[in-house]
Order: sequence, then C-alpha cells, then structure tokens
Amino acid sequence: MKNQKIADLLFPHIHMSAEEVFAKYPKRNVQDGQIVTRFAPSPTGFVHIGNFFQAFISYNLAKNSNGIYFLRFEDTDKKREKKEAKQILFDALSYYGIKYDEYQTPDGKDVGDYGPYVQSQRGQLYQVFAKKLVAEGKAFPCFCKKTEGKEDVLKQRETKWLENDACEYDPCRDLSYEEVKAHIDNGDSFAIRLRTKNKGDERIVFNDLIKGDIEAKANAKDVILLKSDGIPPYPFAHAVDDTLMGTTLVVRGEEYIASTPAHIEIFEALGFPLVQYCHNPLICKIGEEGNRRKISKRYDPEANMTYYIEQGYPKETILEYLLNMINSGFEIWRKNNPDLHWSEFKFKPTEITAVAPLFDIVKFNDISKNIVAKQSGQELYNNWLAWAKEYDSGLATALAAEPNKYIALCAMDRDGAAKPRKDIYNYEMMKDYFKYIFERPQVEFEDADKANAKEFLTAYAENYKEASTNEEWFENVKTLAGSLGYATDNKLYKANPENYKGNVAKACEFIRLAITGQKNSPTLFTIMQILGDEEVKARLNK
Ligand code: GLU
Repeated sequence: MKNQKIADLLFPHIHMSAEEVFAKYPKRNVQDGQIVTRFAPSPTGFVHIGNFFQAFISYNLAKNSNGIYFLRFEDTDKKREKKEAKQILFDALSYYGIKYDEYQTPDGKDVGDYGPYVQSQRGQLYQVFAKKLVAEGKAFPCFCKKTEGKEDVLKQRETKWLENDACEYDPCRDLSYEEVKAHIDNGDSFAIRLRTKNKGDERIVFNDLIKGDIEAKANAKDVILLKSDGIPPYPFAHAVDDTLMGTTLVVRGEEYIASTPAHIEIFEALGFPLVQYCHNPLICKIGEEGNRRKISKRYDPEANMTYYIEQGYPKETILEYLLNMINSGFEIWRKNNPDLHWSEFKFKPTEITAVAPLFDIVKFNDISKNIVAKQSGQELYNNWLAWAKEYDSGLATALAAEPNKYIALCAMDRDGAAKPRKDIYNYEMMKDYFKYIFERPQVEFEDADKANAKEFLTAYAENYKEASTNEEWFENVKTLAGSLGYATDNKLYKANPENYKGNVAKACEFIRLAITGQKNSPTLFTIMQILGDEEVKARLNK
C-alpha cells in the first residue's frame, strides 16, 4: 500500500497499466528460427566501425532468417547527442545498403507498429514500468543531489552507499512515504533506482550465442532505472524496449557483458523473459607497442565509417572485409563463388567468431583490389567520377571533359582481360597512380643509359606510327631496336651481352620511362593509345 502511494505520488500523470501497454505492443507473429533484431545506435555524430560491425551482423542475421530488422535510436544521453547525428547515421547505413523493416524517418515518421523508434519519445512507456516497479517495492525514488566534483561523489559513496564491499545500496532505498512526500512537496527532483534483491555474494549464469554460458557475479547495486528527466539510461530502456518491440536476439558489443547481470535483474524485476544475447567481439588493431588494442576513434582513422567513403573504397570492400571478420569461412566461400553477391553468404549467430578480429589494412586493400578488378572500365570510371565530384572537383572536371579517354584508362588491363590487373584499391589513389596521364613526367635516365636512351628515343619518335594492336606495337619496337644494335633474341643476348646495347626489354624501358616516368606500368601500348600521337611524340622528344 505504502509503495503504491509512493508510486502515485511520483507518477501522478501515468494512468496506463503495464497490461494496457502490452495490448498496444502485441507479441510479434514470427515462427521459430525467424530472428527479430535491431541496430540501436546512440547518435553521436560518429559512426564507429565497431558499431557498424554490429549493425551488419544483426542485419545479416535478420535477413538470413527471413526475420525482422529495425533501427532504434538510443538518444537518451542528451549530452552526447549531436544535432546532425541521426542524419549522419542514416546516410552511412543507406550508403552501405543496410535496409530496415522498421524505423523512424529523419522527419519523425514511424514506419512499423512498435514505435516510436526513438527512445527520447518513449518516456511514457518507461514511466509506466518504473511506476509499476515502485508500486511493487522493487524500485524507489532517489533524491540524492548530483554532487559537484569527483571527490564529493567518492565521499558520499564511502559513507553512505557502500554497506559492504560487495554491494551498493542507495541511501534513499528505505525512505518513508512521509519523507518522499516532503521531497515532492519541496519540488525536489528524483531518479528511480532498482532495489536490488542481492547481497553481493550471489552468482548467475547466462547464455550468449557466441561465447556460450557465462558465469558472473549477480548484480548487487541499486542501479538507476530513470534519470531525473524521466528518461532511462541504457539498461532499463534496453529491457523495456527490447521486450515491447519483440526483439528475439540482441546483438551488441562484448563491452556489455560486464553489465549484463544488472540487465538480467531488471528483466526479472519486470517479470519479462530474458532476451537472447549475442555479444560480438570488438575489432582490434596492433598498437604502436605491438600490443593488441581496440580500434579507436582517437587514434585510428579507419575507426570512422566515413573514412572509407572519403577514401573512395567500394562499399563491397568494407562489407566483404567485415564478413571475413565475422566468419573465417567467408574467404573460402568467396574463392569458390567469385561471382555471387556477398549477401548469398549465410551464417548463424553461433558461427560468429569469438576471437577479437584484427583490422589489417594490407588485407583490407587486397580484398579491395579484387573487388575493383571486377569492375568494367565504364563502371570504374563512373565510380571514380562520382567520388571525384565529392572530394576533388578539379579531377571531376577533367574526368567529365574526356570520358572516352578515361574510360579507356579505367578499362586498361581490365575489360576482357583473362587476368584483370589487381592494382587499384580505392578511387583516391587513382589520380596519383595514373599521374602520367594527367601530366608529363619528369624523367631521369641513369648515367650509363643516357646516350643510348637519347639515340633510341629520337629514332623511335622520328619513325613513330600508332600501332593498332599490342603485337604490332611490339614488332615496331623490336625492328627499330634490332636496327640500332639491340638483341631481339634474348638467348643470343644472354650468351653475349657485350655484343649488344641491351635487349628489347631495355628499349621498352626507355619508352616506358619517357612516357610514364616509371619503370613499371600497365600495358604501354594502351597508355600510348590513350595519350594520342601528338602527346606521345612530345614526350619522346622531351
Ligand atoms: N546504444 C547502445 C550502443 O550504441 C546499444 C547497445 C545495444 O545494441 O543494445 O552501444
């Protein structure tokens, strides 16, 4: 009775009962095996690869089980929330093609029957359940003022909160109705705390689909359920939302394992069946001292999902790389099924790696090279141009002015090639990689080569005629080289190198250097075709 009176005092505006709420959020009509899961980001304006990893895992699990996937914004921490943050999240997810069955549009319209899909709009719902717990004596109001400065907090905890080492009971847990009323009459704000039933020596076991059974110390702390603004911090919101919204599987980072015992006690207090957990490992990097550490927003540009967009990586690169991290079987699957879309690769929650995956940029770029190599010249050109329009307007103008030239460049050693060249991993690198197309190179011949290079290139420029095939091009070079004292047969050259100025390869090297400024390049014949007669002659003469 006392508790009911306190509950009414604290929540005079809440008239709905828990049953009435459940009537509005009926059990979902899903079959065994269909997974209902969600991505529940806190919109901070930064999409961390770890969060995206989680989103991608849950998206796949829902999709592969013909289940339901929804997006819920966890915007209860107003201090952290940034204005544009929701839009940034939407943009990043849609860029990567992650689709939701249920969500709230950026202009505030709920799609789906279990909304609002934004926590800050669910205050009433949380309060119904908080009121219920207070009425049942399982929760209580706490009027402790937020103390300034850390020292005060510690002092307060030492003297008041800690009954023994093992548990943290709040000083307000046993206030009388009169005391509560005096506070309310005084206009004091309050938080709602769980009255933990534990003493600090209990242990629990809970199941995780990736890690199996986990044994841990039971919660023994009067954790906060509602803050003084009536909005819950993560644990209570998680229990209420994932229950009402019919989540069957919670995929979240393994940093949540430590607080799961508190979540479990909240589910129990509410009388809700516990949801199934799937705590994914966190993506790591090798740190400066050779140590393995969590990939971090502070130190690693790769932690930010916009990095990949800015660098112009194909979307598939990041998705396929993450699939590699999720399940090591993906690599073999990809080898055996080079032409299937990544989404054909299916995995179960129990098949997700339990070991923290290591982010390795070399492997990442290798995967990307394979993906870029599959693009036709036209596709690569389109992607390059689209990237340039965002990040390099000068380049975009150049690409758009001569589409045929740049499509040919993109198609070089790629379109129709039995073994397409695997050299490009993102669009950002292409301008530099093909710099000899954009500007005449600075060429330096080695001292020993200078005289020969001058003689050969002068003759080549004088006789230059555009060839129509690579073979014809090579024949022309060979004939000229032969007439100038180069070996056209490598065996003869190897037997008596002193009889020659070099072999045909040496002559090709002179041309390559004059044209590209580099000793290595894709097919020279094609590059020269792209540059055109006039430019080729100018470079040879230079
Ligand atoms: N808002 C939490 C986070 O971003 C959600 C965790 C969860 O998925 O339950 O970490």
